[in-house]
Amino acid sequence: MKASLTHTPAGDEARDLCRQLLLSRGVRLPDLASLVHRLQSRFVPDLDAQECLDSILAVLGKREVCNALLTGIALDVLAERGALPEPLQSTMLRDDPLYGIDEVLALSVVNIYGSIGFTNYGYLDKVKPGVVGRVDRRGHAPGRCNTFLDDLISAVVAAAAARIAHSRSDTLAAAEPAAPAASPGQPAGAPPP
Ligand code: MG
Repeated sequence: MKASLTHTPAGDEARDLCRQLLLSRGVRLPDLASLVHRLQSRFVPDLDAQECLDSILAVLGKREVCNALLTGIALDVLAERGALPEPLQSTMLRDDPLYGIDEVLALSVVNIYGSIGFTNYGYLDKVKPGVVGRVDRRGHAPGRCNTFLDDLISAVVAAAAARIAHSRSDTLAAAEPAAPAASPGQPAGAPPP
């Protein structure tokens, strides 16, 4: 990671920064891409791993996404070092469900490709599949904190899946012409009519 950066980058530099930041917390981009595939393949039957990874990279190239990752992960790391003021320090280490700011920060990422991202995020937050569940469990080990990370990676996956839903809406319309709007407990494929 470039320690010399004084402004949050966009584009390729942001993608590289986000990739390194996530890797430093044990999250690999192919694991996120695999969740995008899980969310979206029922709506886009020919969806492959590369398109899912490309969509993750497109999301990570946005400056506001990079800012959200930088902020949330910095707070997780500071909590692990015991460097936050109380009551924030204890709240973060407990991953207190009433804290809520981890979800608020994630929402800044969720909606960049419209409301499909919101329903996708609700599903990931509730079910915690794959790497989301692993990150959540790791964050509850003594001295560890992933209070922001689980929400942020869910948000990146949700946005990447929404991006595919919009970019492949022609395929979607052919596959499921009468698809109902998803509830917060289900992944979403198409924008509401
Ligand atoms: Mg959280």
